[in-house]
Amino acid sequence: MITKQREQELITFILNDELMKFYKSKEWMQLRLKALKRDNHECQLCKAAGRYHKAENVHHMKEVKTHPHLSLTLSNLQCLCIKCHNEVHDRLESTRAPKFMNEERW
Ligand SMILES: [Zn+2]
Ligand SMILES: [Zn+2]
Repeated sequence: MITKQREQELITFILNDELMKFYKSKEWMQLRLKALKRDNHECQLCKAAGRYHKAENVHHMKEVKTHPHLSLTLSNLQCLCIKCHNEVHDRLESTRAPKFMNEERW
């Protein structure tokens, strides 16, 4: 289990724009695996459309940037294939000013 202190540390990475530190943490890796297991390693958007595709990414439905406190919450995660993941983010990007364009978005 993750301690409150460690969770705070991980949230601080996000707030400081050090997302790679967050995504490389063992806590994220473990949670990510849990999400994949929960979703049977299946892309949830393809599944909703009646297709099967292996999930390659784990997406935060409420983005880490705007909801850092939900970054380690399993119910905020959705397993997606790369194609669906890109589509979701393209949609998010187009609804706001493109100020995060060149950053790592996952
Ligand atoms: Zn998909
Ligand atoms: Zn995402």
